[in-house]
Amino acid sequence: PPAGDGYPSRAVVDLAAIRANVVELARRAGSAEVMAVVKADAYGHGLVPSARAALAGGATWLGVAQASEALALRAAGVGPDDARVLAWLLVPGSPFADLVAADVDVSLAASWAVDEVVAAARTTGRTARVHVEVETGLGRGGVVPADLDGLLAALRSAEAEGALRVVGVWSHLALADVPGDPVNDLQRRSFDEAVARVERAGCVLEVRHLANSAATVTAPGLHYDLVRPGIAVYGLSPVPELASAHDLGLVPAMTLEARLALVKPVAAGQGVSYGHLYTTERATRLGVVPLGYGDGIPRHASGGSAGPGGPLLVGTGDGARLLRVAGRVCMDQVVVDLGPDASERAGDVVRLFGPDAAGPTAQDWADAAGTISYEITTRLGARVPRVHV
Ligand code: PLP
Repeated sequence: PPAGDGYPSRAVVDLAAIRANVVELARRAGSAEVMAVVKADAYGHGLVPSARAALAGGATWLGVAQASEALALRAAGVGPDDARVLAWLLVPGSPFADLVAADVDVSLAASWAVDEVVAAARTTGRTARVHVEVETGLGRGGVVPADLDGLLAALRSAEAEGALRVVGVWSHLALADVPGDPVNDLQRRSFDEAVARVERAGCVLEVRHLANSAATVTAPGLHYDLVRPGIAVYGLSPVPELASAHDLGLVPAMTLEARLALVKPVAAGQGVSYGHLYTTERATRLGVVPLGYGDGIPRHASGGSAGPGGPLLVGTGDGARLLRVAGRVCMDQVVVDLGPDASERAGDVVRLFGPDAAGPTAQDWADAAGTISYEITTRLGARVPRVHV
């Protein structure tokens, strides 16, 4: 769809693509359930509409990092009958009582959190549902094996008083995007040991979960009861070096477009944007695109002596061409060298990325900026309206 009147730029989010991506992920997950990861505003796609689209595609769980994200889902009407919600990055003083009252599952890895969950259960008169995060090799969150017995003792005594139930054990992979790496197997074994210890302690688990998008699409042996794909829900490849989104049967959900603010002729030898990284080789026409690092466009995607800039699709039909950012990415704008014969005018739409495999894609922007596609969509700023179609 074209950018609407009055929008310098916008991100069109195709909810049918999100739904179809989850259908595909659920198919690959086989008997495992799907938790769509919708943290960070659904990787920039808009929390609530994306979550609803993922549920329509067959996800039964939603995963978020922060308490506020879980509560926002519930406040928007995504109820306990619509989805289980898990929040996994809670700090002391988090609103545990609100989470428990809202029927949100909480993750923990330390005894301070057991104390806070027990207090929340007493306040609300409810039984909290807890997932234990175990360290298996990522070296980030999760209880280390040496501390697991102590944590389990605290959890079992809280279970005995009816304050909580341990329903899940989970961990996160360090090298899922390198499917053959031995670390994946080490983590699997460490995970199996932790699960066995939790079960031996007497906890009756509903779900064991380990797989992100990369493991969902490359490692069926790591699916367990529930997979937790994030990036693939939005149609971007978790393993871009091995397979494109298209190869994986995924459709990128976000299209980022902007309307040219100005088109003007310049002479050969015109330095373009801060630092003059780019200089016109011939008389040409420059277009000003109203998106910059203030909107989350990476400054590392500047183009010129620094390397090729981020790609832009300019023109339509036979006149369509793939161009590159000329010169530095500024706070609010980038410049594109449209060429001497360009017929574009102010107001015409240019596309930074979208679903077409021919490009430009968010992955192309990630490549141009030396980053990952996650960062491209997630960092897109609040100034860019999300339009859900
Ligand atoms: N599980 C956890 C704990 C995460 O932090 C994330 C995101 O980083 C995911 C799953 C989803 O990862 P991905 O987007 O690579 O599928």
